[in-house]
Amino acid sequence: MLRIAGCCRLVYNLALEQRRDFWRQHRRKTGTAISWFSQKRELPALKAAAPFLSEAPAHCLQMALKDLDTAYDRFFSGLGGYPRPRRKGEGDSFTFPDPGQIRIDVAKKRLILPKFGRRATDAGALRIRLHRGLYGALRRVTISREGRHWYASVLMRTKRNPPRLAAPVAASDVIGLDRNVAAPVVASDGRRFGCVIEGPRERSRQRRLARSLSRKCRGSKRRQKARLRLLAHKSRMARRRRDMIHKITTDIAKNHRVVVIEKLRVLAMTASAHGTAEAPGRNVAQKAGLNRAILDVGWGEIRRQLAYKLAWRGGLLLEVAARDTSRSCAACGHVDAASRASRDMFRCTACGHEDDADVNAAIEIRRRGLIALGLPPAGTVGAARGALCDSMARNREKKNDGINLPAPAGR
Ligand SMILES: [Zn+2]
Repeated sequence: MLRIAGCCRLVYNLALEQRRDFWRQHRRKTGTAISWFSQKRELPALKAAAPFLSEAPAHCLQMALKDLDTAYDRFFSGLGGYPRPRRKGEGDSFTFPDPGQIRIDVAKKRLILPKFGRRATDAGALRIRLHRGLYGALRRVTISREGRHWYASVLMRTKRNPPRLAAPVAASDVIGLDRNVAAPVVASDGRRFGCVIEGPRERSRQRRLARSLSRKCRGSKRRQKARLRLLAHKSRMARRRRDMIHKITTDIAKNHRVVVIEKLRVLAMTASAHGTAEAPGRNVAQKAGLNRAILDVGWGEIRRQLAYKLAWRGGLLLEVAARDTSRSCAACGHVDAASRASRDMFRCTACGHEDDADVNAAIEIRRRGLIALGLPPAGTVGAARGALCDSMARNREKKNDGINLPAPAGR
């Protein structure tokens, strides 16, 4: 499996290089841009030059090219950064796209794939542990490594007739969500969802493991072990984050019919990760940018999961403009940057209304959602204010028993 993943990585990286460095030459010669199809057509020639590539299933190599194509599509539509080369040990994976070549023997717990148990000369069927039932028509299987474990992700197609959003929608069906650093999601009713996954303890552990790795001799067995320990730690963090996000989104989608969030600001996200010209400081970037960037990645996933989980239940995910949500007063609507007294505290410069800054923003987001839905936002502000007082009291209690705030960088 490592060898197949290695072949796919090589094909991916070569194809990336071709697209990055030779697109002009290609266009001059053929008059067309390099595409998935043009690269797929060149695979046999590549295999002739590097015979070991034939060891990997042909479809997997084609899928690596497809992945690159998708990465470029995402880049050109502003959803992701410029595709980067894949590195060994980072997201090793390969995909079998043809359901006709895949068989899952549920009774014997066997996964049969090209090169794995389809012929006597193959490596033999893969023994699997089935984590959940499989329903519907098989579409594809992706094998990937995370830390010390290999996973098979099975994509099934099922028919679902999701219920439609039943009219009328009342103001009580609508909830606004904002993102935050201490708790990933803050709701307009004052509730906080989730927690910080990578606290000071986890970060110091990661630093320790990375240091231990850097001290081991290159190519030694101890180095390999240290690398696996670091990988295991990283994938544990990833699993925790994934688990948390699923729990948050399921909880919200189950209990609310209409969820209002801010439109995702892709540019702001990437800018915060790289730092800006005005704030090039290392600490600035780490304090504000890094934590934020990590959570922002989760935010995109939260948005994606909310969209489909709400759709399953006949709910609706509504996106509103993000402009000034953190500076607008939820009580009087006054917009002023100075109202943000501190990172956590909102104090309106016009009416003196005070609240947790994130809850205030969530209420503002909900208000915009209500307007978009054609519901009266005015009557609901009063009700929201009632909930606000409760939420403030609750937050005060919460702050005392200490949400794990990330430690400032450099400490
Ligand atoms: Zn105000």
